[in-house]
Amino acid sequence: MRDDVIRIAGSEIHRGERKNLRLKVSESFISNPTYIPLTVINGEKPGPVLLVTAAVHGDELNGIEIVRQLIHFLTPEELSGTLICVPVVNIYGFQNATRYLPDGHDLNRYFPGDPDQWSQGRYAYTVFNELVLKSDYIIDLHTASSGRSNLPHIRANMSMPQVAKIARAFGTTVILDYVGTQGSLRRAATDAGIPAITLEAGETRKFEKKIAERGLLSVFNVMRELKMLDGLVNTSDFQLVINKTSWIRANRGGILSINTRPGRVVKKSKELATNTNPFGTEVESIKAPFNGIVIGIATAPTVVPGEGICHLFLLEEPVRQVRKKLMEIFGRKRIVF
Ligand SMILES: [Zn+2]
Repeated sequence: MRDDVIRIAGSEIHRGERKNLRLKVSESFISNPTYIPLTVINGEKPGPVLLVTAAVHGDELNGIEIVRQLIHFLTPEELSGTLICVPVVNIYGFQNATRYLPDGHDLNRYFPGDPDQWSQGRYAYTVFNELVLKSDYIIDLHTASSGRSNLPHIRANMSMPQVAKIARAFGTTVILDYVGTQGSLRRAATDAGIPAITLEAGETRKFEKKIAERGLLSVFNVMRELKMLDGLVNTSDFQLVINKTSWIRANRGGILSINTRPGRVVKKSKELATNTNPFGTEVESIKAPFNGIVIGIATAPTVVPGEGICHLFLLEEPVRQVRKKLMEIFGRKRIVF
């Protein structure tokens, strides 16, 4: 539980209030401030502070739509606790339709940041101190990186009970149990003792409507789990927590034909893609090295040797058993969320 007042970006938001704010993260060449937009909804009743962030990678747009819907739908009257909504964390990347900051750095490798460091460290420091450290729980929304598409899944450090609690409540069928990359917002937050999870869903530079709809319901699930909203958490209890993954890579350059898609449960030796030369002759057949779930695929048809074409999560359970369970619960063998 926090105080009745939360202070962000030099503003006070009292219980029962909502405010649209701007947080200064840097300055331009002409000494003008650079701001990121955010909305704080301080509920009428006490409860935890939940931060929902999107576009830490500026070209990953699906999360922006989820945050926009949250801002639109929620009111202080129905809320217990405080919701901090940040639709665009990396404003430079967003404006330039790129993952990166203007100097080519990945903001999501510099958390918790440093006020005396280069610009990327200062940017991360401001976000971390003004937003992350004022929160009790965090959901950070991402997509696959450019040229790839991801099955919607949660990434979380499942050894931390408070993280596991919100990861399961979010409700994706697949959860990747991983501590997180050093310097990422999620890793830095959990290292600071603040439970954080990441959603990876879909592709860059798109609003994928179904992902936004399911993503919004999933954030509501977390809020219900945390008693920030009334109602029951609505998730299936069939969830696969996986901690071993591998990128299956092309060994030849060529033009790809991918024979699988995210969410497919595949057996070892199943052909995932064929790689042909410009004359149409097959140069390589790329097969699954183990039983797994296809989590990500390349969307660009051209590859060079070493390029990742399929992100496969290792399945410990028998393939037949998982497919049967999926049919029983969802009426299809493929995982969609
Ligand atoms: Zn990302």
